Amino acid sequence: MPIMARPRMTHQEGWRILREIRRIKPFIQASLSITKKRCGNPKCRCAQGVPIHETGVLTWKEGQRTRTLYVPVELREEVAKWVEEGKRLKALMAQMSEAQRLFLVKKRIARRRNTGS
Ligand SMILES: [Zn+2]
Repeated sequence: MPIMARPRMTHQEGWRILREIRRIKPFIQASLSITKKRCGNPKCRCAQGVPIHETGVLTWKEGQRTRTLYVPVELREEVAKWVEEGKRLKALMAQMSEAQRLFLVKKRIARRRNTGS
């Protein structure tokens, strides 16, 4: 497919960012934290002392509320990848917005030159 057939609604940098966005893998906008908790078993040594059981928790904001979700230990590594991918997408969205603002500014300048006003 010839690349020039595309309508020119962005410039080279914009296309580069779009290609990156297309390569995004499953993502999530949240953060993963590993904390320690008590298991709830009254016979466990944690019942008397400090929390000793590692637990993975996903947290995110919904409006003003912070929501949390337990992450099973076998999925922790995978979920950490989703979180990283979410950050990457957020950064790419900011880059794309910047690229499009620049595109607009350049178009405006070109127009002014052409009309001579
Ligand atoms: Zn325990």
